[in-house]
Amino acid sequence: MPIATVNPATGETLATYDALGAEEIERRLAAADTAFRTHRTTTFAERALRMRKAADLLDEDQRDVARVMTTEMGKPIKQARAEAAKCAKAMRWYAEHAEELLADEEPAEQDVKDSGAAWAIVRYRPLGPVLAVMPWNFPLWQVVRFAAPALMAGNVGLLKHASNVPQTALYLEDLYRRAGFAEGCFQTLLIGSGAVEEVLRDPRVRAATLTGSEPAGRAVASVAGDEVKKTVLELGGSDPFVVMPSADLDQAAEVAVRARVQNNGQSCIAAKRFIVHTDVFDAFAERFTAGMKALRTGDPMAEETDVGPLSSERGRADLEELVADAVENGATVLCGGERPDGPGWYYPPTVLADVTPPMRIHHEEAFGPVATLYRAANLDEAVAIANDAPFGLSSNVWTHNGTEVDRFVRDLEAGGVYINGMTASHPAFPFGGVKRSGYGRELSGHGIREFCNITTIWHG
Ligand code: NDP
Repeated sequence: MPIATVNPATGETLATYDALGAEEIERRLAAADTAFRTHRTTTFAERALRMRKAADLLDEDQRDVARVMTTEMGKPIKQARAEAAKCAKAMRWYAEHAEELLADEEPAEQDVKDSGAAWAIVRYRPLGPVLAVMPWNFPLWQVVRFAAPALMAGNVGLLKHASNVPQTALYLEDLYRRAGFAEGCFQTLLIGSGAVEEVLRDPRVRAATLTGSEPAGRAVASVAGDEVKKTVLELGGSDPFVVMPSADLDQAAEVAVRARVQNNGQSCIAAKRFIVHTDVFDAFAERFTAGMKALRTGDPMAEETDVGPLSSERGRADLEELVADAVENGATVLCGGERPDGPGWYYPPTVLADVTPPMRIHHEEAFGPVATLYRAANLDEAVAIANDAPFGLSSNVWTHNGTEVDRFVRDLEAGGVYINGMTASHPAFPFGGVKRSGYGRELSGHGIREFCNITTIWHG
């Protein structure tokens, strides 16, 4: 893939960038190594000062950086500004909490005595330069949710961003530099995916995190495994959204629409499979389809737009293939399903019913505004359909019945269970999945500790 800004609303190439050569990559790896030696010795207070400054700068830049994101990947401008605001919030959250999250742990007195120590503690020390391979869908947030905890823990970051968001990638490097982080603490490597292996094998790089597709995750994790380096993987999802008879159907349908089409439907934690109890299936399907039809699709720079174009021509073609396969195999189109004429990679909000396991869309991620509807006879069947997916990122359940809540929490195979609401990440809550959605966690204390050397200090 060329490294370029191509406006998905028009298909126009606005800027292209040369990939870094071997010499420049080496210079940046050396800078990361040097920066780590100093950054690791800074205090939490010093790091927090810079992180808060980065948050303030991002708030000041919000309108401009939102336009850059929308130009590069097509998200509605209001959502782009909200993404920037969320990043500033996460930066401040880690500035405030990193020290307590990484505070020394004291084992129980009895165990210390039993080990023969006079005293013993567990300390979270930084690991070193961490490579972050990131996707275009939340081009600021995906990076910040790695970078804020990593920098606060004393690590340094090397960003290999998706090739279609180079301006956002360069903005991030500049942001952390302006905030006062020393040269080399956070660098953007403008490289293609083919150059990732060499960087990851470099002994100065200590670990990697990747958000993206399963093939990309597998490729990076294989190399990291070969080099015995830790990875965190946040891959795709096909989250279930279960609606039971006691749900508030108006509210559930309204949130279902938002949960499906946020970010033009290109979110790993978007609800994608809507599993509805048969008693309320028709009533929910009617409300949900009406809501999907009412969305305003169009220019992502316009304030009133709900759904913009998909990020790439390839992305739209992949989605069209999934829908065509479903229709050929018997799915019913309740709305959408046909791309509009004209420039840009637009695809309409689409609802498919009568989806069955042989269809590709039943077990593949639909990365765009396409929802699938399933009818469940009872709770057991709802759980079975929900778990019948290779992914396990998050899940949504709508019910006011406490017994049902207990069952869903016990049985859903996912890294999150959101009840009477939609999945949304928050700095204080761990984020990540099971099964083919990946492993490890981002955000919260769990996220900041992923890239730490958990050190036993034993004193005789
Ligand atoms: P990719 O997984 O291909 O891209 C994500 C990142 O990984 C990019 O930086 C990409 O670089 C890099 N990458 C890709 N292949 C490799 C590799 N073999 N070795 C090292 N790095 C690699 O996502 P796509 O944009 O192609 O989207 C495809 C599908 O992935 C989507 O339809 C969706 O299902 C899923 N996806 C999931 C996301 C999530 O949030 N979990 C986000 C984006 C996509 P480059 O851009 O240079 O190729």
